[in-house]
Amino acid sequence: MKYASVLLAVLVATLSGAPTGAAAAAGTHGTAATAAAKANPFPGGLSPQWLNAANVEPTACLAKLAASGAKYKVLPPQAKPDAKGCGVPHGVMVTRGPTGITYSPPLWIDCSFATLLEPIESIIQEEARSELDTSIRHIDTFGAYVCVTRAGPYTTLFSTKPAISEHSFGLAYDMRSLTPAKGRPITVLQDYEKGADEPVTARGRFLRNVAIRLRRESGLTHVLTPDFDAAHRNHFHLDRGLPFGWWWREDPVATPGNP
Ligand SMILES: [Zn+2]
Repeated sequence: MKYASVLLAVLVATLSGAPTGAAAAAGTHGTAATAAAKANPFPGGLSPQWLNAANVEPTACLAKLAASGAKYKVLPPQAKPDAKGCGVPHGVMVTRGPTGITYSPPLWIDCSFATLLEPIESIIQEEARSELDTSIRHIDTFGAYVCVTRAGPYTTLFSTKPAISEHSFGLAYDMRSLTPAKGRPITVLQDYEKGADEPVTARGRFLRNVAIRLRRESGLTHVLTPDFDAAHRNHFHLDRGLPFGWWWREDPVATPGNP
């Protein structure tokens, strides 16, 4: 009985350890960098999260990104994370993606994440054509790279170590709104139909279909929507970080068949 209650407490603590934190609750990750200073329990800073980005071979990655047609600037490579455990091993600053979508602010991300922009944007454009009869020209974000922790333990179930957000490695960005060639911007806050299996508006269907297809087809690890929690009420969080573990569930409504 006692063991069961301890296990339950661990589970609750773990499940509440999603990549949100106070910064996401404010609609941006920019204000909560301080706690990250305590968040690097790995000798030399080479955490599994860092290695997940750093182990991607940069020459082939940058060649793939160049071939995608994206417009970007290559940033100086970073051999190891900073004292807080954060950093972007092979950073790029993307101003325009492979399908011509411009980003504001420009995406400060790792090359390994940037090469996913091609499948991500293709899905967005296909859904814009089929649901809205237009294409997407621009995406506003709440930012990509920022050194920030997330609430709860590290990636394993019984660890008590704090976690670092995938934003801290340039492996995530927060999509706030999408501007089409015609019509007003589609915003996650106003147009996502939270909890709706079958959205009644075209914009709601567009956003729901994008979220589902990004999970299934883009190569991303996590796509969090307003269905996930209140901290994500105004953005989609996209990342190619490490999977959280066997216990992880994505948004219950918008992920039929998701493990
Ligand atoms: Zn995020």
